Amino acid sequence: MLRIDIRELRRGPVDTVGVIPASDPLLEGLELSLAEPLAVSGVLEPTGRGDFFWRGRLETRVNATCRRCLKEFVVSFDGPVEALFTPDPDLQDDPSVYPLSEPLTHVDVSGAVREELALALSMYPLCREDCAGLCPTCGADLNQGPCSCGRPASR
Ligand SMILES: [Zn+2]
Ligand SMILES: [Zn+2]
Repeated sequence: MLRIDIRELRRGPVDTVGVIPASDPLLEGLELSLAEPLAVSGVLEPTGRGDFFWRGRLETRVNATCRRCLKEFVVSFDGPVEALFTPDPDLQDDPSVYPLSEPLTHVDVSGAVREELALALSMYPLCREDCAGLCPTCGADLNQGPCSCGRPASR
């Protein structure tokens, strides 16, 4: 469950566990393509000041395109998420703070899942650290060896 009843939260920390399929509307509009469902885990707990702190974890595999050689590959993603859910408008400038609206009946962490996943995956990946990329002249994949357009391998 990623939507937790406030009455349950008032009794103490609550586990947040969910599996979000790649086609889930929650992920619609994000520039990413999941190769497998997104597994969400973590604990949501009251801070005692009327807000709730979530320590979560997101795990999935993502279809990615190497930013140097444009090869498509699948990359594992496994990262922690921290988010504060608060009704206090003064705190809400922080990007990892999510507003709660009255009447407060539930805390739903799925919005934070979407935002934090998008943020974490906004860096374009490399298929490998030392990817040689494409020749800027002929477009050959230099991971396969030097190209034949005659351009020196090192400039
Ligand atoms: Zn590459
Ligand atoms: Zn070339």
